[in-house]
Amino acid sequence: METHDLVIIGAGPGGYSAAIYAARYQMDVLLIGEIPGGIAGTAHDIRNYPGFAKVSGMELMMKIIEQAKLLEVPVKQTIVQNISKGDGGFFIKTGKEEFFAKKILIATGTARRELGVPREKELTGRGVSYCATCDAGFYKDKIVGVIGGGDAALTAALLLAKFASKVYIFYRKKEFTKAEVAWVTEVEKNEKIEVMFEEEVSELIGEEKLTGVKMKSEKEISMDGLFIEIGGTPNTKLAEELGLELSGGSIVVDKEQNTNVYGIFAAGDVTDRPFKQIATASGDGATACYTAFKELRSEKATL
Ligand SMILES: Cc1cc2nc3c(=O)[nH]c(=O)nc-3n(C[C@H](O)[C@H](O)[C@H](O)COP(=O)(O)OP(=O)(O)OC[C@H]3O[C@@H](n4cnc5c(N)ncnc54)[C@H](O)[C@@H]3O)c2cc1C
Repeated sequence: METHDLVIIGAGPGGYSAAIYAARYQMDVLLIGEIPGGIAGTAHDIRNYPGFAKVSGMELMMKIIEQAKLLEVPVKQTIVQNISKGDGGFFIKTGKEEFFAKKILIATGTARRELGVPREKELTGRGVSYCATCDAGFYKDKIVGVIGGGDAALTAALLLAKFASKVYIFYRKKEFTKAEVAWVTEVEKNEKIEVMFEEEVSELIGEEKLTGVKMKSEKEISMDGLFIEIGGTPNTKLAEELGLELSGGSIVVDKEQNTNVYGIFAAGDVTDRPFKQIATASGDGATACYTAFKELRSEKATL
């Protein structure tokens, strides 16, 4: 069976940053990730990542992936189905292969949160979307809505306003408190965007495809597309099976990215860090790799 010092699970900024550090430490590393670039690849306009005044998530992640390629990091693009504890490490199963790792880093990020209204699943891909970067182009001269009040919702609305004739933002709070102020200012200046605070979508209207939404206030608004940008749910299935401590649905880590199980580290959006960004996930990945490196070195020294 293929054995590695460190196996990283996740191909987003957290996982790739750890992989780059691991290569520089000349560690025997393997990265396994389902979606190259992770959710960061879906961000259409990034203005807060140091060194890049304006870059798309895909472009940024391609540069990071290219850097890992230059460092010859082995990568498997697949899903990890299961991890179990073994003697001195962990068995990692994908659909077809099994690996053994002395240390593992979980950087599995989040899955898009669903709104939880009836018929959401049936209308997904028929007017309901979770990715403005992927689908904005389909809504030229159409009316669309965006649900949410964070950076992802506001940047989605700004992108959609480049195509659609009208963009509504529905946010259940009184004002934008989570989003970057620079994005709030751009939204306020955009004449195509109308923000409806203290409003919640309770029903989706339309049979074959979405034709409108009904609000909790009973108001009905006609529209062709609805983009749900209400954050994510941490991908903790593997962590739960391994008995990792969770808090509020996220993996609990210390300052060195240790989990409660020796030899398992976690980084990025899947952890309980309060601020979830590309820069913070990258920082977590680097720290986790350094902690794993130190642990492996001290284990070797005591042999
Ligand atoms: C629309 C949008 C816009 C954003 N804009 C910005 C921005 O402007 N600036 C900013 O700093 N941040 C932004 N973010 C947030 C940023 O993208 C995240 O904080 C960051 O991607 C987190 O990185 P991560 O590595 O923890 O997880 P992710 O990027 O989510 O990557 C997780 C990886 O794990 C993989 N994975 C999950 N489960 C498994 C499994 N079982 N087996 C194998 N692989 C698995 C996934 O396929 C993926 O490759 C935005 C997010 C969104 C959604």
